[in-house]
Amino acid sequence: MTTEQTANILSSFKEELGRVIDMQSAIALLQWDQEVYMPPKAAPARGQQLATLAGLAHRMFTGDTMGGMLHELKNWEDQLDDDSVALVNETLYDYEQATKLPESFVHKFAVEQSKAYEIWTHAREASDFKLFAPQLAVIVDLLQAKAQYIGYEDSPYDALLQEYERGMTANKLKVLFGELAPKQRDLLANIMNSGSQSIPAWLEQEWDTDVQWTFSLEVLRDIGYDFEAGRQDKSVHPFTTNFDLYDVRVTTRLNNKELFSGLTGTIHEGGHALYEQGFLPKDQRSTLAQGISLGIHESQSRMWENMIGRSLPFWNHYTSKIQRHYPGQLDGLAPEDMYRAINHVAPSFIRVEADECTYNLHIILRFEIEVALIEGKLSVDDIPEAWNDKMHAYLGVRVPNDRLGCLQDIHWSHGSMGYFPTYALGNIYAAQLFEKMLVDMPNLYNNIESGDFAPLLLWLRKHVHQVGRRQGAEELIKSLTNKALDIMPFMNYLENKYSQLYGI
Ligand code: ZN
Repeated sequence: MTTEQTANILSSFKEELGRVIDMQSAIALLQWDQEVYMPPKAAPARGQQLATLAGLAHRMFTGDTMGGMLHELKNWEDQLDDDSVALVNETLYDYEQATKLPESFVHKFAVEQSKAYEIWTHAREASDFKLFAPQLAVIVDLLQAKAQYIGYEDSPYDALLQEYERGMTANKLKVLFGELAPKQRDLLANIMNSGSQSIPAWLEQEWDTDVQWTFSLEVLRDIGYDFEAGRQDKSVHPFTTNFDLYDVRVTTRLNNKELFSGLTGTIHEGGHALYEQGFLPKDQRSTLAQGISLGIHESQSRMWENMIGRSLPFWNHYTSKIQRHYPGQLDGLAPEDMYRAINHVAPSFIRVEADECTYNLHIILRFEIEVALIEGKLSVDDIPEAWNDKMHAYLGVRVPNDRLGCLQDIHWSHGSMGYFPTYALGNIYAAQLFEKMLVDMPNLYNNIESGDFAPLLLWLRKHVHQVGRRQGAEELIKSLTNKALDIMPFMNYLENKYSQLYGI
């Protein structure tokens, strides 16, 4: 083929891909509306609209036109520049993944999934896992079948992981988590034995949610979120979504009993959003303007939320500001008081409320249960017992009921297994990146203390955000830090921070 012919195919391919991405963006906008503004009676119609559009988008993407162009371009990739090669390879990967599942399977999965969600909602209300078990068994069977369609080498769980964290395997995670779990458990035991982890009395006041809202917007603007290319709204579960790199939206959830949960939610979602606002304009409307993996995405949100937003330098900057927002309520408190309060550690039943010292333990137990289920070594009926035993072994707590135990998360009812580990990977990646940032920018904490987040964001833009999907997760970490995936930066970060906080 001549260079000119290849260039023509490339341009038709980009146009077709752009149309698929337009469809996906329209779907995402309808989903955003569903979570944020849609009146309740509109739910069934919205479900229809989403199903219709999702079907159309899937057909457009997996059709022969797209497949033909992708294979042609792959054959002639010598004639393409580096960006186009990356674009073709990444899109071909997505195409192959999307075409592995027969349409009949996708349809059956969607039907069983929406049943599962309904049943899970009721079971959780009744706090009775037995109501959910039969339908969850159907989902597990389907996930095992899905793993066969996708293919794997060692564990069928590997096939499911690929959807969220490409290149990751159950074996790699077993090694990583096997090292991490006892270290986190020891740290937690030391904190619990320190005798200094009571909640300060001043924290138990009412915190006006309008004030929380205003303060969260102020912080979001300070860290570099572009309000000309996004907005914040309220939703039941905080999330980030994008329809383009110039339209990246976040949501938060406010509670007048909690001073920090809305703020940390905003900073967390802000971290996700800065990533998506940071893709290269030349990658707009293409596969390259996407996060590498859910783990890398989560590394961005957790770095901003925890390593920055829960740091002492951050509170050296913001304590006087938040005091002005709540006259009479925070008088006389020092930055150290805020720092201590926002880093309170205690084992709890609920993952989404867990602190930095316990969070990964919640993830590891879910990972172990998921692998056992998918590998056929644990039956669905035995989940509550396995869950409660692991909660006791890892966190030292006795789960009183299923609602506070194995029914708390939405993920399984969505048919998502292999998703949870990406949260813990996010913490591990974040610590590796942050360690490197501190080497590259010795003044990093001074910058944070003076409210100057620009150097930090610039570093992330250059080394992570603008990469888009040009590198894989482990490849990115390796190329930036010269090290493979490693739990030690995360453990060092935790141990330094919490031994100082709790005097251990
Ligand atoms: Zn997140």
